[in-house]
Amino acid sequence: MLAYTYIDKGHFALVEKPKPTLIEPTDAIVRVTMSSICSSDLHIKHGSVPRAVRGITVGHEMVGVVEEVGSEVTNVKPGDRVTINVETFCGECFFCRNGYVNNCTDPNGGWALGCRIDGGQTEYVRVPLANQGLNRIPDSVTDSQALLVGDVLATGFWATRISEITEEDTVLIIGAGPTGICTLLCVMLKRPKRIIVCEKSEDRRCFVREHYPEVLLTTPEECKEFVLKNSDHGGADRVLEVAGSDDTFRLAWECARPNAIVTVVALYDRPQMLPLPEMYGKNLTFKTGGVDGCDCEEVLRLIEAGKIDTTPLITHRFPLSEIDEAYRIFENKSDGVIKVAIETNIDKQ
Ligand SMILES: [Zn+2]
Ligand SMILES: [Zn+2]
Repeated sequence: MLAYTYIDKGHFALVEKPKPTLIEPTDAIVRVTMSSICSSDLHIKHGSVPRAVRGITVGHEMVGVVEEVGSEVTNVKPGDRVTINVETFCGECFFCRNGYVNNCTDPNGGWALGCRIDGGQTEYVRVPLANQGLNRIPDSVTDSQALLVGDVLATGFWATRISEITEEDTVLIIGAGPTGICTLLCVMLKRPKRIIVCEKSEDRRCFVREHYPEVLLTTPEECKEFVLKNSDHGGADRVLEVAGSDDTFRLAWECARPNAIVTVVALYDRPQMLPLPEMYGKNLTFKTGGVDGCDCEEVLRLIEAGKIDTTPLITHRFPLSEIDEAYRIFENKSDGVIKVAIETNIDKQ
């Protein structure tokens, strides 16, 4: 089968590999029908993920059909359509039992697929701890509708959940890339008084304006003043920082009102300053970290009920054979791209 592979820093290539087989009784083999490219794939490509193993198949956002399961897999069966979770987690350790699956202490736990073990930009993938890592897609939900459930949408859902948003709040979301827009969709479910999205790209502001006209839009340069003018208590009640650029962390806490919650979803390339003397008396609560992708079933139910729709984010589609071109477009943010779907030729078996 063809697998998009991390060869070396700066170099991914489509290479022929054997179809994976079950190793543990908790494994499942999934035939990938659709996968997507995430900015974390680009971080691997650029050599900024030290844990990433050369030679592995990349890709950690995908959906497919269960082909084969190990003897201890009870959650799914062959033939089931499933979403695959970006995180591998045991479901039994202290962190898993408390919903902090990102911190699972299992040796295989955390972001393994497409980083430390073979991922999903290919035809078949072995999913470890499949009882936790796979969720059945409801019959009325298409692959395209479910594609982002296991990673960027899980992230938006989690970020929204930990931000404790109420209907009185003015919520500021910094960044309208794929994760920012997924976060926006989940924040909208909380019906806050106002949502302000801050985004530097004109293309992406247009995308938000076109699809979510009720959202207020601003730019990083005007953000502070705009938020002050469009909030009730001298700043945003909740700030969700999804951009991760050099000055957006500072922007996030500066735009927050006293006693606000600032949720940092972004992954920064560099350390950020926490200038406590300047913040003194502002009494902020910061929440940080990587997604706990343990609400995928609930997210799938919301999609089934028509409450979340991420299909407008899939702006481009390519067959697996043209994945180089898909990466080129995604990496250069050309042609108004938000998300790319890679469709696997399922007839070739
Ligand atoms: Zn990702
Ligand atoms: Zn665990």
